[in-house]
Amino acid sequence: MPVLLLLLGLAVFAYFFWRSRTTSLTRDCRWRQHRSEDLWRCSACGAEHKGMDEPNTCLRQ
Ligand SMILES: [Zn+2]
Repeated sequence: MPVLLLLLGLAVFAYFFWRSRTTSLTRDCRWRQHRSEDLWRCSACGAEHKGMDEPNTCLRQ
């Protein structure tokens, strides 16, 4: 079934393309979770984010 393999390859390619687009904003950020303080801190720029979820964007402005 070469058609199925082709579709699978396209899906993988689309996935990595989508990932590289959505993660491009965070390339410079390295978020570390500090559970004791209930916040995320970026070790690259020092930005802080309150909450449980890892931030998607860099807060450096
Ligand atoms: Zn940052």
